[in-house]
Amino acid sequence: MGARWACFSLITVLALPVPSAAQLADIDPRVAELVASVSETRLQATVEALQGFHTRNTLSRQDDARQGIGAAATWIHAQFTAASPRLQVAFDDYEIPKQGDRIVRDTRVRNVMATLPGTSARRIYVSGHYDSLARIVRPAAAATAAGGGAAGQRVADATGGFDWGNADNLAPGANDDGSGTALVIELARVFAQSGLEFDATLVFIALAGEEQGLVGAKLHAQKAAADRIRIDGVFNNDMVGNTVGGNGIVDAESVRVFAEGPEDSASRAMARYIRRIAARYVPSHTVRLIARHDRFGRGGDHTAFNQNGFAGVRITESNENYARQHTVDDTADAVDAAYMARNARVNVAAMATMAMAPGAPQVTDDRGRPQLGRQPSGYDARLQWKASDGAVAYRVYWREAWTPDWQYDVVVGNVTTFVLPNVSIDDYVFGVSAIGPGGHESVVSAYVNPPRAEQAITVK
Ligand SMILES: [Zn+2]
Repeated sequence: MGARWACFSLITVLALPVPSAAQLADIDPRVAELVASVSETRLQATVEALQGFHTRNTLSRQDDARQGIGAAATWIHAQFTAASPRLQVAFDDYEIPKQGDRIVRDTRVRNVMATLPGTSARRIYVSGHYDSLARIVRPAAAATAAGGGAAGQRVADATGGFDWGNADNLAPGANDDGSGTALVIELARVFAQSGLEFDATLVFIALAGEEQGLVGAKLHAQKAAADRIRIDGVFNNDMVGNTVGGNGIVDAESVRVFAEGPEDSASRAMARYIRRIAARYVPSHTVRLIARHDRFGRGGDHTAFNQNGFAGVRITESNENYARQHTVDDTADAVDAAYMARNARVNVAAMATMAMAPGAPQVTDDRGRPQLGRQPSGYDARLQWKASDGAVAYRVYWREAWTPDWQYDVVVGNVTTFVLPNVSIDDYVFGVSAIGPGGHESVVSAYVNPPRAEQAITVK
């Protein structure tokens, strides 16, 4: 099969009307139905319920049935459990000692997770943080912030204007991140109730301790890395419900996806994938890819996964209202349920397609070297990869090295090598995806140019 394609010269290949991946792929009616089953009403009701716990500060009380983070965790657990018997629901607990500026006493950090087993062990995560925070800005500090503080910076003194030990004050956290948590709970429901079987195991996780420094995500990601669990991607949703910016600009038609570099990292590949799949299933919504790990000077739970070697992106509303974040004003009345539902549908489409597809092909050898060479002529591009379980075909992608997204692609058969004659591996970036029997395609694995080894020069 490979030989059939290998007869093309570069000119022939580029002159062919190469269809884009989006044109070739059919919409899977089962995925479309899953996307359509996201409920705006449920999302809104969940945000309101989460706001009802008075606070979900990680250091708030854990022994009260109605208020504080303990009650919220129990409630989230119950939502997962009620959604479907197919979900394996568990608390993911860590006891941590007092440390740093923000963890002012020993505490339990409790993530809540629901697992929908797939036919393979590889996992795909969707996450949101259910803890909340409302800073108490002292009058003097507030005046400073209002007078000269840049938008988004309420930090007005050495403590950030906040007493980290006072954790029981009102902190509704409706958008940050009740919205992401509601999205996670809704996705658990629609995926588990669909009756569909997925190749990947899906994990729906509500994380704690984000406001204290991504604590719940770090602890979970560290454990997953130590246990050598394969996590193919993390869809981290943090603030997905605000449409009116603090500057009055309204945007309910787009969402941002932040992904860390370098340009062909697995996280960037995942971001491109989300945009491509969302364009098929939620065409009215624009996915804006941002080539950054997060917003300027800010962070989120996906970074904890990235730092432990897992691909993951941050999905966030296009317009933030900084004045409401981390205050008593982060309330459900400012969360746009229809917008939240569209963002949930973007997650559903990409996550379902990724989970139905085989895993992305491995394009490196066991020592991590990209399997890309110039054979057979010495001026060709010869791609090699390891077969993905369940794949029936592969798609080879390439693009000029100074471009952000794939320009050319071709479906090849069930092979593990492919040659593009006279295409320079110096000038183009290459990648390959795996296609399953139902036509679902994996994320693209790129052949990453390895960094040059440092060679120190000795001076006499
Ligand atoms: Zn947040």
